[in-house]
Amino acid sequence: MSKPKLAIFDFASCEGCQLQIINMEEEILDLMSIVNPVEWREAMSEQSEDFDIAVIEGSITRSGDEERLRRIRERAKVVVALGACATCGGVNKIMNNFNIEEAKKAVYQEASLMPHLNTSLTKAVDEVIDVDYKIHGCPIDRKEFAYIIRCLALGKNPEIPAYAVCVECKLKENICRYEQGEICLGPLTRAGCGARCPSVETWCFGCRGFIDDPNIYAAKEVMNKYGKTSEDLKDRMMLFGSKQRYIYE
Ligand code: SF4
Ligand code: SF4
Ligand code: SF4
Repeated sequence: MSKPKLAIFDFASCEGCQLQIINMEEEILDLMSIVNPVEWREAMSEQSEDFDIAVIEGSITRSGDEERLRRIRERAKVVVALGACATCGGVNKIMNNFNIEEAKKAVYQEASLMPHLNTSLTKAVDEVIDVDYKIHGCPIDRKEFAYIIRCLALGKNPEIPAYAVCVECKLKENICRYEQGEICLGPLTRAGCGARCPSVETWCFGCRGFIDDPNIYAAKEVMNKYGKTSEDLKDRMMLFGSKQRYIYE
């Protein structure tokens, strides 16, 4: 069986998810022995127009990004969105809550007119093209990346948790952050990280994106029980939930 050709592309991002892959060190060699890497700007100089699996890191925001992304989709058999920037727009999407020109000026001042800052509203990858699989998180979990790529190389469907972080958190017997007077997005956020943040005594800020069918009423009940409001919840969603905050209107 020939190895599937793998290409990794980046759009607007900090490239931290690609760095997670590189940081796999020796394990990356095992993984790359079952695929054929043909393009990966952060790790190799070769480029190719011929690939089977396209892994996309980053959100879509600069002029020309959408056209480039569509060309990748046309060539790839399977498209995988890598990390929160790609799966839900990530921290880049915070910009959509503001007037873009004013936001650029506030950050870059006189440099805000430079051509590479010619950006528009930020989109997740699946707001432009069809995406087959998503590797969630900011940054991604290396083991989950390896698992998903192995499944794809073997022609299997990877299983990505459809339940909330609270499930993993309760299995770890953590004290709930709501009991500490905090707001935690665990009830709405897709599991798979092992409830990493509540396990080190901080709230979940939703980096794995929301589960497909979040229970809004249950979330509102929790907020009422602990004397919080929907506005408090929406504020907590600013970092990774800009795409979905509207459901709490
Ligand atoms: S998801 Fe987070 S770590 Fe990954 S590229 Fe985006 S900002 Fe960086
Ligand atoms: S701390 Fe967060 S993730 Fe854990 S049970 Fe409470 S709400 Fe759920
Ligand atoms: S607990 Fe929440 S914010 Fe922390 S890694 Fe998991 S999904 Fe991301």
